[in-house]
Amino acid sequence: MTTLTNLGFPRIGVKRELKRALEAFWSEEASAESLQETAKTLRQRHWTLQRQAGVDVVPCNDFSLYDHVLDTAFLFDAIPDRYRKIVDADPLAGYFALARGTQRDGNDLHALEMTKWFDTNYHYLVPELHAGQEFRLRGDKPVAEFLEAKALGLEARPVLLGPVSFLLLSKTVDGSDRLALLDRLIPVYVELLATLKEAGASWVQIDEPCLVLDQDGDDYAAYRKAYAAFAKGERPKLLLATYFGASGENLELISQLPVDGLHIDLVRAPEQLDSVLDVWPQDRVLSLGIVDGRNVWHADLDAVLTLVKRAHQRMGGENLQLAPSCSLLHVPIDASLETGLPQDLHGWLAFARQKLEELRIVRDVLKGKPAAQTALEQARVRVQSRRTSDKVHRPAVAARVSTLKKDASQRKSAFGVRSQLQQQRLGLPAFPTTTIGSFPQTHEVREARAKYKSGKLGEADYDVFLEAETQRCVRFQEEVGLDVLVHGEFERNDMVEYFGEQLDGFAFTKNGWVQSYGSRCVKPPIIYGDVQRPAPMTVRWSRYAQSLTKRPMKGMLTGPVTVLQWSFVRDDQPRADTCRQIALALRDEVLDLEAAGICVIQIDEPALREGLPLRRTDWRTYLEWAVDCFRITASGVADTTQIHTHMCYSEFNDIIDAVAAMDADVISIETSRSRMELLDAFVKFRYPNQIGPGVYDIHSPRVPEAGEMVELLEKAQSVLSREQLWVNPDCGLKTRGWPETRAALTALVQAAHAMRQKL
Ligand code: GLN
Ligand code: ZN
Repeated sequence: MTTLTNLGFPRIGVKRELKRALEAFWSEEASAESLQETAKTLRQRHWTLQRQAGVDVVPCNDFSLYDHVLDTAFLFDAIPDRYRKIVDADPLAGYFALARGTQRDGNDLHALEMTKWFDTNYHYLVPELHAGQEFRLRGDKPVAEFLEAKALGLEARPVLLGPVSFLLLSKTVDGSDRLALLDRLIPVYVELLATLKEAGASWVQIDEPCLVLDQDGDDYAAYRKAYAAFAKGERPKLLLATYFGASGENLELISQLPVDGLHIDLVRAPEQLDSVLDVWPQDRVLSLGIVDGRNVWHADLDAVLTLVKRAHQRMGGENLQLAPSCSLLHVPIDASLETGLPQDLHGWLAFARQKLEELRIVRDVLKGKPAAQTALEQARVRVQSRRTSDKVHRPAVAARVSTLKKDASQRKSAFGVRSQLQQQRLGLPAFPTTTIGSFPQTHEVREARAKYKSGKLGEADYDVFLEAETQRCVRFQEEVGLDVLVHGEFERNDMVEYFGEQLDGFAFTKNGWVQSYGSRCVKPPIIYGDVQRPAPMTVRWSRYAQSLTKRPMKGMLTGPVTVLQWSFVRDDQPRADTCRQIALALRDEVLDLEAAGICVIQIDEPALREGLPLRRTDWRTYLEWAVDCFRITASGVADTTQIHTHMCYSEFNDIIDAVAAMDADVISIETSRSRMELLDAFVKFRYPNQIGPGVYDIHSPRVPEAGEMVELLEKAQSVLSREQLWVNPDCGLKTRGWPETRAALTALVQAAHAMRQKL
C-alpha cells in the first residue's frame, strides 16, 4: 500500500508561539523549562495535525529551537573553541551563543555566520570546522524526539542532515578541505544510526540536498565512502532525500549508493521521474515529492496523478511513498485561517496542512475510493477557477509585456554622455555623499503606523505625522551636510510589502509566517495575478520631500527582482514573466517621479544575487531576464535623470558582468565589513559607472570615526578613479537610533570633506 509521508513541518507555530517563547527566554522573562515546554507542545501539536491530515509516517528531529544545521553541528560537538566554556557550563546558553553571539558574563562572542539555505529565504548557521576537527555525539536530540513521538503512539521517521551535505554546507576556518573530515565524521553517524535503531526507529530520512547541485569527483567519492560505511553497521533503513531540483547527472551515483529508499522532488523537476524509474530498483522505496513545499498553491491533482500513476505502473504500490517536494518548513501552516482573503483566492491556497490533505486525496484516488472522486472534482473546480479568473488574467497587462520593444530596456545615451549631463544638472562636489534610503524607524514611527492600520489614527492625522517626520529628516540631512538627500521612508513598513499593497495582483495573509532564521519570521506577499499599478505609489512623498529642500531629493523604489524574490509567486507562468510585469509597473512609477521633478532615483535590488539558480548552467538565463527587468524599470528616463541602484548582502565576483549590464549610473554596495574587499570584482572588471562603497556598517550600533572612513575611501580611491566614487553607508538606517545616526553621518560627511581637501 502506498504510504503518505512528510519530510519536515514548520516549527514556529501558527501564532509564532516558538518565536514568543524564544524571545521571552532570551530576555530572561521565561525559564528554560518553559521554553522547552512550548517546544514540546508545538512538536506534539504538529505531529497530531499531520496524522489528522492523513500522514502515515511523520518526521521527527525536524524540529529545532533555532536551526537544524546548527543542531547537527551541536549534536556532533563541532563547536568552535571560543564557545566551549559556555557550552560546557550550560548547553542551552551555549547553543544560543553559537546562534546569536553573546555579551553576557564577561563574554564577547560573535555568532556563527549565517547564510541562505539553498535558494530559499531560510538562513542556516554555517558550522565552523578546522583541520583535525574531532566529532563525538553530544546529547541525544534525534533519539529523544523519536521517543517523544513514540510515547504518543507514533513511529516517527527521524530526519538527519547527511554527512556530505553537512560538510559541504560548513566552512573551515583554516582553509583546509572540508571533505577531509569525512573519515572522522562517519563513525559518529554510524553510532547515531545504531542508537536510533536501538530506540526502535525502522527508517531514517537522511537529507543530501547537495545532490541536486553540481558535484565533483571528490564529492562523489565522499558519498560513496559514507554510505558504504553506513551499510555495514546496525542501522534503520535509510531514505536518501534529495530536493530543490533534479539530481541530473548525479543520478547514476545515487542509484549506486547502498540506501533503502530515495526521495525525489517532482515539483521542481517532474522531468526526472522517468530517468529515476529507469535506474531505481523496484524493491527499494521511492518517495515522490508531488506537492510544492516551496509555494502556497493548491496542486493540479490531475497533473500529479499522471506522474504518480506512471510510477505506480512501473513500481507497484508497495514501495511507493507520496510526500511534499521538500520539507514544509518553507510554507505557512494553515490556509484555512486566512479568512480575510477574497473567497476565490482563499480557495486557491494550500499551506502545510492543506498540502498534506492533497496527498491523501491522491492516494485515495489511486485506491479507487469513491469519496476521493468528490474531493478530486472539488480540486478541479478550484484549479479551473484560478485558470480563468479575471483577477489573475488581465489581458492588457500580458499584452503590454508581449509587445514590449527592445529599446524599452535601453537608456537613450551611453553612460559617458549621461554622467556629464547629470553632473551639469546636479553640480555635485567630488565624493558626493548620500544615504541608502531609510532613517531610524523609531518606536513612535512604528506605533503611529500600527494605530493607523488598526483605525485608531485617521488618515489625515497619520499624514501630518509622516510629514513632520519627513521634514525633520530632511532638515537633519541638510544640517549634517549630505549632498543627495532622501525622504527617510517613514511611511514604509517593509520594502516589498509597501509596494505590494499598492499594486494589483498582490495579496497579504494574516498568519502566513515562514521562518527566516531563528525567531525571525517573514510574511511574504502572495503574487497571484497579473501585476499592474492603479496609481502612483511614492510620488506624493518624494514630491513633498523635494519641496522642502533645494538639494536633490532621491526617489526610492524596490526593484522588480527583489519584489519577486521576496514574495510567493504564481506557479502558472514563468517567474520571468511575472518579473517583467512588476518591472513595467515600476517603470511607470519611475517616470512619474521624473515628471514630478525628482532627478535622482534609486531602484534597490538587494535580492538580485539570491535569485541565482542552484545550477551554474541556469545562471545565464536568469541573469539575462533579471538584468533586463531592472533595465525596463530604469530606462524610460531622460539622460539627465540619474539612476542609482543598491545591492547589499552580495558578493560580486561571479556576477559582475550582469551588475555592469544593469547600467545604473550609480551603485551603492556593502563594503565596510569586508574592508573594501568586495570592490575587487569591480576593479578587475574595470567597472565603468559610479560606485558608492559603504563606509559605515549599519548592522552594528558602533559609530565609526571619520578617520576610519577616510582610510576606507583611500583604499577605494587607490583602485578606482576619484570621479567614480560616492560616499555612503552600507545600507538603510532603519534599525539604527537617531543619536548614533547623527554621529556616524557627521563623521561620514567629514570623511568626504577630508577626501576633497586632498584633491
Ligand atoms: N532603501 C532601503 C532602505 O534604506 C534599502 C534596504 C535594503 O537594501 N535592504 O532601507
Ligand atoms: Zn541594503
